[in-house]
Amino acid sequence: MRVSKALIPTVKETPGEAEIPSHKLMLRAGLMRKVASGIYEYLPLGQRSLLKVMGIIREEMDRGGAQEVLMPILTPAELWQETGRWQKYGKELMRVKDRHERDYALGPTHEEVITDLVRRELKSYKQLPLNLYQIATKFRDEVRPRFGVMRSREFLMKDGYSFDADDEACDKTYWIMFGAYQRIFKRCGLNFAPVEADSGLIGGSFTHEFMVLAETGEAAIALCEACGYAANLEKATGVPAPHAAPAAGGATQKAYTPGKHTVEHVSELLKLPAQQFIKTLIFVADGKPVAVLVRGDHDVNEVKLKNFLEAQELALAPAEKVMEVTKAPVGFAGPVGLSGARVVADKALQGGHQYVAGALEKDYHLTNVELGRDFKDPEWADLRSVATGDGCPKCGKPLKAGRGIEVGQTFKLGLKYSKAMKCVYLGEDGKDHETVMGCYGIGVTRTVGAAIEQHNDADGILWPISVAPYEVHLLLLNPSDPEVAKAADQCYEDLKKAGYEVLYDDRAEATAGFKFKDADLLGLPLSVRVGAKGLKEGVIEVKRRRLKDVAKVPAAQVLDKVKEFAAEEWKLCAP
Ligand code: ATP
Ligand code: MG
Repeated sequence: MRVSKALIPTVKETPGEAEIPSHKLMLRAGLMRKVASGIYEYLPLGQRSLLKVMGIIREEMDRGGAQEVLMPILTPAELWQETGRWQKYGKELMRVKDRHERDYALGPTHEEVITDLVRRELKSYKQLPLNLYQIATKFRDEVRPRFGVMRSREFLMKDGYSFDADDEACDKTYWIMFGAYQRIFKRCGLNFAPVEADSGLIGGSFTHEFMVLAETGEAAIALCEACGYAANLEKATGVPAPHAAPAAGGATQKAYTPGKHTVEHVSELLKLPAQQFIKTLIFVADGKPVAVLVRGDHDVNEVKLKNFLEAQELALAPAEKVMEVTKAPVGFAGPVGLSGARVVADKALQGGHQYVAGALEKDYHLTNVELGRDFKDPEWADLRSVATGDGCPKCGKPLKAGRGIEVGQTFKLGLKYSKAMKCVYLGEDGKDHETVMGCYGIGVTRTVGAAIEQHNDADGILWPISVAPYEVHLLLLNPSDPEVAKAADQCYEDLKKAGYEVLYDDRAEATAGFKFKDADLLGLPLSVRVGAKGLKEGVIEVKRRRLKDVAKVPAAQVLDKVKEFAAEEWKLCAP
């Protein structure tokens, strides 16, 4: 493609609204433009990258035995009502009415639609397993669209759904898809980790998120460098640091703690470590108060809590509610004598002694509180977030906090949708059985963003060759010199003939300096630079964007050099 004829509107200045490198670079390199909040149009270079990612996904899904279909974006409300998600999804589900006042949703995911298709077509066990996927536009009316394609409202997703006869077969399919995902993200040149995660609104029994490791990622994860354990912080478990007081002390005592209502302040005042505190937080779950106890150095994990309580709505109680439940202002809640709420407690509290807790009275705390002695055994569960200093649940070595961009997620759904929607098949035993389902998503647009987020420098993008819009950037440095133009044209023809995807910067008006800057910004993995100075010495420059070195070779060796460099770039994207 000749740049003189292409729509590649590069921009020198950093656009104001962009906060993270990939967003800035996607705008600056002319990959996309914003249409409305969280809605983008993809220009030719952006679209080429998306197509590359989609190509890799298609190959690996097909290799894993899945078949591609295409489902509608506009989906009837009745299907969502069958599973209850018409209610549950809330405002993220973009709802529209047709001219007959019938309700529809713009599909944010397609479990209902595909399950409806399969229940109509599936008769016998002989048709199983079935594994269907599509690559299509999704719409989610996100509360806070941001970071460009990372959290947009309209985006491209690959969503796949598997239907198996039984649990064992479903597990087999799940792990085939898991393997396909590993190949896909490796082939996209990404440094990623599959992590254990919470299954959220999609539901189901177990799930992995594929996280591209990046500081700017929205997801917090816990990683163990020793054994490879990795989990989303929403789900991660850790072995807590040991307790401060390992043995029981004397009777409970009241301590005067005027105006001290945080663990930090009371711990300073009483000179006792935070680990020796019971932090009591009052939540409201589906309208009912719940007191949650965690160790003073730990934090309540709202996702775990919500799952444990099986609550639809969960939030910290407002001050009046706290007052009503604890008979004290915020900051003095504690389990001893608490009767106005269900009490649930994090397991990390077990084994500790001589705890400090709020006394349910303004300006007072209790010391020497013992579990089981001073208050009734609460409901125990893992309700806290992994904290620094925790050990890995698999090997005990210290866990590290990290951040990631979720590019894909695999779920074992089990019977959740097939039960709700009666997606059954006739078994060998002549009886109806529900299909066991899995579902598998990849954010296609987000994957392109993640590739840039992970591969860039101060000057621009450093594309992995597998997803780069073009492989080679050919620069004609002195367009007014007919000799140079002729040599560059020749290179263009030769490279194309050899099968390379070439972007040819043949612009007559742009200076060499300008073209260098654009080449750095666009970040194509290889560039071939044809200029008067080089030709005088009998050489053309071949350069890798990632590296500083430049190879100066005679015109006849350009193809060989490109081939050698390209092979090295491809090695970085090997599955
Ligand atoms: P998140 O936790 O980031 O909101 P999710 O878990 O809700 O994502 P899934 O339902 O698992 O998303 O969707 C599958 C994939 O679609 C995600 O792994 C992600 O790559 C992509 N995706 C989800 N929401 C968005 C969005 N708002 N913008 C771009 N891509 C998205
Ligand atoms: Mg997800």
